[in-house]
Amino acid sequence: MQNLTVLGTGVLGSQIIFQAAYSDKQVVAYDLNDEILGNLPARWEYLKPRYLAEVPGATPEKLAAAVGRIRASSDLADALVDADIVIEAVPERLDIKQSTWEQVGKLAPEKTNFCTNSSTLLPSDIAPFTGRPEKFLALHFANEVWSKNTGEVMGHPGTDPAVFEAVAQFAAEIGMVPIRIHKEQPGYVLNSLLVPFLNASAKLVVNKVASFEDIDKTWRIATGAPVGPFQIYDIVGMMTPYNLGKDSDDADMREFAEFVKREYIDKGWLGKGAGRGFYDY
Ligand code: NAD
Repeated sequence: MQNLTVLGTGVLGSQIIFQAAYSDKQVVAYDLNDEILGNLPARWEYLKPRYLAEVPGATPEKLAAAVGRIRASSDLADALVDADIVIEAVPERLDIKQSTWEQVGKLAPEKTNFCTNSSTLLPSDIAPFTGRPEKFLALHFANEVWSKNTGEVMGHPGTDPAVFEAVAQFAAEIGMVPIRIHKEQPGYVLNSLLVPFLNASAKLVVNKVASFEDIDKTWRIATGAPVGPFQIYDIVGMMTPYNLGKDSDDADMREFAEFVKREYIDKGWLGKGAGRGFYDY
């Protein structure tokens, strides 16, 4: 599969576009209008130094060539015209995903395989809207795809096994390590592990069992992991635990959300990207 169309050019969509183009694919970037697409050159300028610093073998010439393999379009029919594979990275709302896939199903050529990058929705929630459920599955990337390069491949019961394998192969071709998930699982592998781990860490702090620094130290020293849970919170950003925790059924997680808001968000300490979160960077 040589021709990729990516729907949505936000945080993850822009990374997928650039990574695939860097891996010699021809990529069409689709978004709602030309004004949004006009932000793409700034995204490439943000990503280029990250590749130079973090991707072995990256050179300015290779990065410029990658940009040359990207075409932007706000016309969906035009964006899909020769797509071998579509990766959808539109906002995480079921109604937006379903209506997007309804349109794509009508416009895409017969050959096109369909993937969603949804983090929390299941492929079977969306498959009936695609018009070709047998060619639909999830290919889930992690933020900072050039270095955190897992590609979680997850079908629904109606996904054609040959399409599943072809997508796993495509993930490898664009530099991901394919992770084959054999049945539908909310949160895939990564978040099935990470979310309970982060929640357990939050509860230790809320219940004043230990300081966040000591919790991180325990995890790093005793397991050899490079970072502890509160360093991970800083990478994810403070808004995510706040948004997930504030309406939780779990009183500890609600208290953690309030703590994060009071002690960090209200001070502008939003995480590593902002220069300060639990730690000062
Ligand atoms: P984002 O808000 O940064 O980007 C969404 C993009 O979709 C925007 O450019 C927006 O203009 C565009 N868009 C909105 N409606 C559209 C439509 N109808 N058709 C086409 N484009 C439309 O979001 P994001 O963080 O990049 O997340 C996108 C998807 O990727 C979500 O499903 C999310 O779960 C998943 N994801 C995100 C992360 C992450 O860390 N941000 C990690 C893995 C997966």
